Amino acid sequence: MDTTLVLLKPDCVAGRKVGEVVKRFEEAGFQIRGAKMFAASAELLKGHYAHLIDKPFFPELEVFMQSTPVVALALAGDNAVERVRTIIGPTDSKKADKGTVRGDFGVDVMVNIVHASDSNENAAIELKRFFAPGELFDYAMGYRTKP
Ligand code: UDP
Ligand code: MG
Repeated sequence: MDTTLVLLKPDCVAGRKVGEVVKRFEEAGFQIRGAKMFAASAELLKGHYAHLIDKPFFPELEVFMQSTPVVALALAGDNAVERVRTIIGPTDSKKADKGTVRGDFGVDVMVNIVHASDSNENAAIELKRFFAPGELFDYAMGYRTKP
């Protein structure tokens, strides 16, 4: 079991797709280990998008990512990084297949509904960036559920 970091971006929150996107992850078998809503600070975004700071679109990306609060999720499951990336589709929503999160709800390459970690190494870094140790939970799955 691995844990990966997902961000539900402003177009997801403003477009009221949070439930639909979370539903897809849960139906794929992912367990939520952490969830929180917050306004992303400029400092946080500079760390999170450090690989993009020099790109011409970075200022616009910053404005977009601060246009509403975002929701961070820590999702646990087998092969979580790769399986979540498959569920969301490629960066450019216009090139994403229907049936993927970005293909169904994303607008373009920037406005693309979700972020997801791209490696286990980055997942560990990003989980630390967005969740304090006490905000990530390991809990027994012993409760009765509807079969
Ligand atoms: N992005 C953008 N223009 C680009 C490439 C990326 O606006 O040409 C934005 C987009 O929101 C993307 C994020 O920057 O999701 C991070 O880019 P990355 O290449 O890491 O893509 P991802 O891992 O999100 O698929
Ligand atoms: Mg990325």
